[in-house]
Amino acid sequence: MTVSRADLLVRNARLVATVDPQRREIPGGWVAVTNGFVSAVGTSTDPQPTADVVVDATDCLVTPGLINTHHHLYQNLTRAYPPMTNAALFGWLKTLYPLWAAIDEEAVHVSAWVGLAELALSGCTTSTDHLYLYPRGAGDLLGAEISAARDLGVRFHPTRGSMSLSEKDGGLPPDHVVQDDDTILAQSAEAVERYHDRSRGAMVRVALAPCSPFSVTEDLMRRSAELAEALDVRLHTHFAENSEDDDFSVATFGCRPTDYLERTGWCTNRTWVAHCVMPNHDEVQRLGHAGIGAAHCPSSNLILASGIAPVVDLRAAGVHVGLGVDGSASADSASLWLEARQAMLLAKLRSGAGAGTARMALECATVGGAGCLGRLGEIGELSVGAVGDIAVWSLTGPAFAGAVADPVEGWLRCGPIGARDTIVQGVPVVRNGALVSGRVDEMLAAHGKISRRIQKIAGA
Ligand code: ZN
Repeated sequence: MTVSRADLLVRNARLVATVDPQRREIPGGWVAVTNGFVSAVGTSTDPQPTADVVVDATDCLVTPGLINTHHHLYQNLTRAYPPMTNAALFGWLKTLYPLWAAIDEEAVHVSAWVGLAELALSGCTTSTDHLYLYPRGAGDLLGAEISAARDLGVRFHPTRGSMSLSEKDGGLPPDHVVQDDDTILAQSAEAVERYHDRSRGAMVRVALAPCSPFSVTEDLMRRSAELAEALDVRLHTHFAENSEDDDFSVATFGCRPTDYLERTGWCTNRTWVAHCVMPNHDEVQRLGHAGIGAAHCPSSNLILASGIAPVVDLRAAGVHVGLGVDGSASADSASLWLEARQAMLLAKLRSGAGAGTARMALECATVGGAGCLGRLGEIGELSVGAVGDIAVWSLTGPAFAGAVADPVEGWLRCGPIGARDTIVQGVPVVRNGALVSGRVDEMLAAHGKISRRIQKIAGA
């Protein structure tokens, strides 16, 4: 197909790594975007269209925009909070629940804006958010974060999370931050009705996301799966994150977490789970057979000492493995490039040096994420008809000196690096390493005030 005119053209790349089904890598390549979608991809000798916006990618690697499949954006209000420095998952959660109970519309809007901006600087063009705290009277929290994503111009998959099993019923969260099952399901259906966009290239899609087996009732797990089926939306939850999680499942439900997923109707290709650290060989095969997705969160798993997820085995079994920065109170940094690098390193450590490559990590960060979100062929690849979401990475300066043989391995093994340009739906959100929005200082100042208020530190 010949395209003579485009809205945006990225050209002169050192390499375009398309991550398309053929995994084409095009030295000197270019990518054109028209009306928000990739309209042409070419080699250095193919005729290029003219365009309103031209991005010169000399000395750059060009990849699809990266996809973040697990996050709790509001948690950046309690980053590096001292009392949790030495805590594993359950203790960490119990320390922070009371602080998080103070969130409201403003806190959610500002933390989402800042968190999504941070992600965009690391080449992320699509992010999920797992928002599971709805303190009474806090307002339309999902709407507050969706407005932040729209203002910034990034693609967003918020999930309507939930908690219904409090301490008095044998769960982990305190009583005042949970809701009853009927309220949760009614508000979930309402959120889908109001915000979920089914169209190709949608900027907002909503999924249902009971927080975790240790914070919701079994009945809510089952009814959420039924509601997701009825509304044709996706399902998300935390799963098999560490040994405490495994032990809780055996003690409370009398089975391992994978059995529990199966018996509640969750072991389907509608589901993507966060962490997936603990499954044994047999469970890995069952998860793969179901075509489930897994958000691998390497930094979070390291900080909370949860373990190393069997990423290579999961992928081999057919699981869609994406990457997640996880909440910014457990993995305090939220760079998707960094998570890709951590995923590469941990895969080497767990499965052998040759098993964890930069290309494997790039696949997790792109098409793996698209598989988690049910958008294969639409996001996470640079092919005609896919969305115009592009990350441009400069491979210059001292950190990249000598990395002349393989731009993809160089991209992840050298660095650290942020995206030089991040383009969503054909529109630059980051240019030359800086956010295009003029609101950065204003939002950071607001974020500082809210963080101090929630952490009860003077200076707000
Ligand atoms: Zn999480």
